[in-house]
Amino acid sequence: MPFSERTKEAMNQQLRLEIQAFYKYLGMSDYFDAVSLPGFSQWMFSQSQEEWAHAMKFRTFIQDRGGRVELGDIEAPPSDFESPLDVFEQALENEQQVSRSISDIYAIAEEEKDFASQAFLNWFVTEQVEEEKTVGDIIDWLKRIGDSPQGLFLLDERLGQGGLNGAAGGGEVAPA
Ligand code: MG
Repeated sequence: MPFSERTKEAMNQQLRLEIQAFYKYLGMSDYFDAVSLPGFSQWMFSQSQEEWAHAMKFRTFIQDRGGRVELGDIEAPPSDFESPLDVFEQALENEQQVSRSISDIYAIAEEEKDFASQAFLNWFVTEQVEEEKTVGDIIDWLKRIGDSPQGLFLLDERLGQGGLNGAAGGGEVAPA
């Protein structure tokens, strides 16, 4: 089944978006390290590794379909934030953007009758539901905590242990 030019372009754009997400979360991890929230920093680092893994999935898929990988510039991510809540609100915006982008590629693959790409994208559609839910849950907790240092300390501990769902949730690197 031929890999259409349009789908290839869209997949390359997504590859770059995932690398950009990797870079954003890496910057967020560094911010949390700088303000001495090691659990948040660890959680964001794991998140950045997940994004890297997503980028590599797109890279491999483009190559497997006989397409050429096209890398581009990576924008410097934001490095200063108002608060942990500000960080996670930006992370949610990022995830929503990624979800929209995945949906757009899916629509292109559908128009091109590219079933292999649709099958490949299914995993990402499901993954984005999970990503938005997890980040949204953390935002809820940060709002509940408000200005309480104790609450922030406890959430930092929890995130350092792998997330709100215990060691199994969050920070899990997707299988290649
Ligand atoms: Mg991703």
